[in-house]
Amino acid sequence: MTGQLDGPCGRCRYFRALEASTGACHRYPPVFAGESSPREAHHWRFPVVSIHGWCGEYQPPPEA
Ligand code: SF4
Repeated sequence: MTGQLDGPCGRCRYFRALEASTGACHRYPPVFAGESSPREAHHWRFPVVSIHGWCGEYQPPPEA
């Protein structure tokens, strides 16, 4: 890592891309998104994270 904007979410094994700079973190099961969650019938979602984010649960992707 070379700086604060080089977070590892975009390289993490638990990251699944949604858009160019965001994705869903699948480290843990979905969390409750609120009764008024507009797009979901079930109201449970994986957290959306930036590719530049990071957390202490980071794991590198499995070897190809
Ligand atoms: S670094 Fe943490 S928040 Fe980011 S995708 Fe990995 S587990 Fe999720």
